[in-house]
Amino acid sequence: MSAALAEPRAGTAAAAAPPVIELRGVTKTYGSGAAAVHALRGIDLRIDAGEFVAVMGPSGSGKSTCMNIVGCLDVPSAGAYRFDGVDVGGLSRRQRALLRRNFLGFVFQGYNLLNRTTALENVELPLVYRGLRPRDRHPRALRALATVGLEAWANHTPGELSGGQQQRVAIARAIVTEPRLLLADEPTGNLDTERSREILVLLSRLNRERGLTIVMVTHDVEVASWARRIVRFLDGRIREDVPNPRFEEHRGEEPVRQ
Ligand code: ADP
Repeated sequence: MSAALAEPRAGTAAAAAPPVIELRGVTKTYGSGAAAVHALRGIDLRIDAGEFVAVMGPSGSGKSTCMNIVGCLDVPSAGAYRFDGVDVGGLSRRQRALLRRNFLGFVFQGYNLLNRTTALENVELPLVYRGLRPRDRHPRALRALATVGLEAWANHTPGELSGGQQQRVAIARAIVTEPRLLLADEPTGNLDTERSREILVLLSRLNRERGLTIVMVTHDVEVASWARRIVRFLDGRIREDVPNPRFEEHRGEEPVRQ
C-alpha cells in the first residue's frame, strides 16, 4: 500500500492536499450483453476535505453504486477513483479493507449496532479491529460517546436506547477512529422529524467544528438542506452539482440533548 495510507493521518488536510474523493469517468456495468445494466455512465466528482455533501436522486439513479465505490466496497468497471490521492483501483481487496478500516466511517439507516453489547462496546469495536488495548480503547470510545451526548448511556444496550440515540451511538462508532471521510446512507431514514434534526445538528457540528468531511445520501430535501453542497444523480449520471443555498439556515441550531 502507498505510504500515504500506511498510517492514519490526524487533523484536516493542508490547502495543497489532494481531494478526499476524486472520481474520473467512473462507470459501473452489472451483467453483460443484452442484460447489462449501466448503473453509472461516467461520473466525475471531486470532494475536498471539510465538505458536507448531500447526494440525492431517484431510486435506481446510481447513488448506492457510487457510494459503494467511494466507500471502497466495490470497484468501477472503468474510470479512476482516488481517495486522498491514492489510486484505489491499484489496491488489493485486503488493502481496500484496510483503507476502509483506517480512513472511512459509515453510518447506515438501520444503525447496524450489535444488540447484545453495550453502547461503549459498540463504539470500541473499530478500535478492537485496530488492535488497541482496553485501556487505550475505553477513553477514546467514551470521548466519542460524549461528542454525541451519550456518555451517560455507555453501559446500556441498543435495546434500551431510542432510535435517535442508537443512531448517535452509530455516529460515535463511525468517528471514534477519526476518519478522513464519513459516509452516511439515509442516516435519518428511520427517525421522526425531531430525532432527525438531532442527528443533522450533530453531523453539522462535526463538519463545522472538526472539519469532518461528510457525504450523506438522502431522498429528503429537508435533510439535504443541512449540507453545504448538493449532488443530484439521474440515470447513472450527475445531473446537478451545486452549493446548497439553504446551508446557512441551520447555523446556530440547538445542541443535542442527552
Ligand atoms: P440508487 O441507489 O440510486 O437507488 P443503485 O445504485 O442501487 O441506485 O442502482 C442503479 C442501477 O443499478 C439500478 O438499475 C439497479 O437495479 C442496478 N443495480 C444495482 N446493483 C445491482 C447489482 N448488484 N446487480 C445488478 N444490477 C444492479
